[in-house]
Formats: sequence, structure tokens, C-alpha cells
Amino acid sequence: MRLGLEDALVSGIPVGVGQICHCDVCGANLRPNDRVEVLVLIDGTEIDVVTTRGECCARGSLEEGTQRPCWLARGTLAASIGPGGHSRLILAGASVIDRAE
Ligand SMILES: [Zn+2]
Repeated sequence: MRLGLEDALVSGIPVGVGQICHCDVCGANLRPNDRVEVLVLIDGTEIDVVTTRGECCARGSLEEGTQRPCWLARGTLAASIGPGGHSRLILAGASVIDRAE
């Protein structure tokens, strides 16, 4: 499988601190191996996760009329160790499923 540039950029981005994060829509706990959908804002070379949604609330596409450059990516949560030795969750095996420029 060949990864596109966008897929490579969103794979490994930190999604949350600790072992659990939450669906921003319904607050459900999301753990490693759960499938998630994240909205990332693109600002030059900066990529910021602005919204994390679980399978529970995944939409599969960006909202109509999205104005800011952003991508919608889907992947799996994976536990990882961040700078300073703190555990965190990253997005693994991500693919960009929708985008707005
Ligand atoms: Zn949810």
C-alpha cells in the first residue's frame, strides 16, 4: 500500500494526553485501537487537531461550506510516549478522507 503525502502527514499526530481521550461530540471514552475521525487545521506546515470524533459520531465528510483549510482524517488510536515521558494517544494508520483548501 502506498501512502499519499497527506496520509503520511496525519499518521502519528498526537490526538490526546494520557491513555484515554474523548469524543468531542458525545464525550464517549476513546481508547487505543478505537477508530476515530479527526478534523485537522492546516496552517502552512502546522497541523493542528481541532476535533476528535469516535465511531459513534463519525460523519465521513467535512461540513458544507467549510472555509478554513482543513482535512478530515480517519485512523486508529495508538498509545505512545511523548516528549518528557508522558503517555499520549496518536493517530495511527491514518488516511485523509475529505479536504477543504
Ligand atoms: Zn461520539
